[in-house]
Amino acid sequence: MSNNVVTRVAPSPTGQMHIGTVRTALFNYIFAKQNGGTYLVRIEDTDKERNREEWVDDIWQDFQWCALTPDKKYRQSEHVGRHKELLHSLVNSDKAYVSKEPKKDDASQTVEVVRLRNPGGKVTFTDLIRGEVTIDTTELGDFVIARSIDDPLYHFAVVADDGDAGVTHVIRGDDHISNTPRQILILEALGFQRPVYAHLPLILAPDRSKLSKRKHGASLENYRGQGFLPEAILNYLALLGWNPGTEKELFTLDELIKEFSLERVHKAGAVFDIEKMKWFNHEYTKMLSLEEYEKQLSVFIESRGETVPPYMPAICTELRNRAQTYGEAANFLIDGEFSFMEETIPTPTTDLLLKGAKASAEAVKTHLQAVLELLGNQEGFTADSVKELVFPYATEKGRASVLWPMRVALSGKEKSPDPFTLAGLLGKERTLERIEKAFQLL
Ligand code: GLU
Repeated sequence: MSNNVVTRVAPSPTGQMHIGTVRTALFNYIFAKQNGGTYLVRIEDTDKERNREEWVDDIWQDFQWCALTPDKKYRQSEHVGRHKELLHSLVNSDKAYVSKEPKKDDASQTVEVVRLRNPGGKVTFTDLIRGEVTIDTTELGDFVIARSIDDPLYHFAVVADDGDAGVTHVIRGDDHISNTPRQILILEALGFQRPVYAHLPLILAPDRSKLSKRKHGASLENYRGQGFLPEAILNYLALLGWNPGTEKELFTLDELIKEFSLERVHKAGAVFDIEKMKWFNHEYTKMLSLEEYEKQLSVFIESRGETVPPYMPAICTELRNRAQTYGEAANFLIDGEFSFMEETIPTPTTDLLLKGAKASAEAVKTHLQAVLELLGNQEGFTADSVKELVFPYATEKGRASVLWPMRVALSGKEKSPDPFTLAGLLGKERTLERIEKAFQLL
């Protein structure tokens, strides 16, 4: 394909960005990059009643956050002068006309809308995903394209902007398919070249209803707040509707640019599966260096207004293995899952030390003493090395009677990770100290 490919994503600033818009942006971005073309972001901000300025800023930031940075960007409102000019030219060339008619909700008043002369009949267009689509436009009649000679409607603005920007590929959601014939008629009247269309299947909730921000929290903001990485979101979204034709699931943006094809996007709606997106996220956090993981998690925790516990570096590996997202990791910390890492832990009661041991206080004391001796000479102190030493002894004496009190001694709690993990994370000194203390208690 020649390198004058121009794609565009055209979000309206009416709220947080829907995850579907991110996918539309991604496919437009990839397609432009595949063809050495231009990827354009146009903010459709001409609907004054529904737009808010803060949403405009959010859109730019959202695209920046997920690295779908536009080659060119502008706001539709910057072009209203040009829209009017094009509208006038259509009326001057009699492709459209001013029609004086009674106002819709008040017949005593008249309005002067602009209507397009619609030749009627069927409009056929090629859609890269749906194939050939034919829609009869006869019933549309001479439809309204402007509220007045100086106030063009939305469809007119879209077509004018696409035409002026030389958009060659309109890749957007399926919900716009019914707008396409109307837009093609306007486009042809304006004398612009017709782009290629690709209408993406809608993203569906598990119950196959339309995935919604309100009902399903389907905004980029929400997933960012849950601590997803942008790379993971993009990777997951790419596979939502697109079938790579292989088993491969992990794709960097560069790999997507090499391998993605619009022709391999399904026609049917794609069900959004948050668990699958979490799986992707976990794959991506596992690829980070520990230092990077710790840095990003700290930023995330602080952005929630929480403090990063001083022991976090010591438990990063464990956190990363267990948490699929930064949100989950932060929750583990807030819920006290790792509170055994605090300098002081609740002193375990004798009841608790014996509760799950199913052995007498005397027997438990003997076991704790034995564990102290086993670990006392231990050099490299890791969860594995502790297990190697203690497990055979516990197996011989009865696992519960050794491992339960050891675990309670180290955590101070009824529920915690296994005692080897605890010992590995606490290190030799604190492990011995806490077991000694429990021993004294008994
Ligand atoms: N502004 C429209 C939307 O937010 C997109 C229009 C288009 O892609 O043609 O759904």
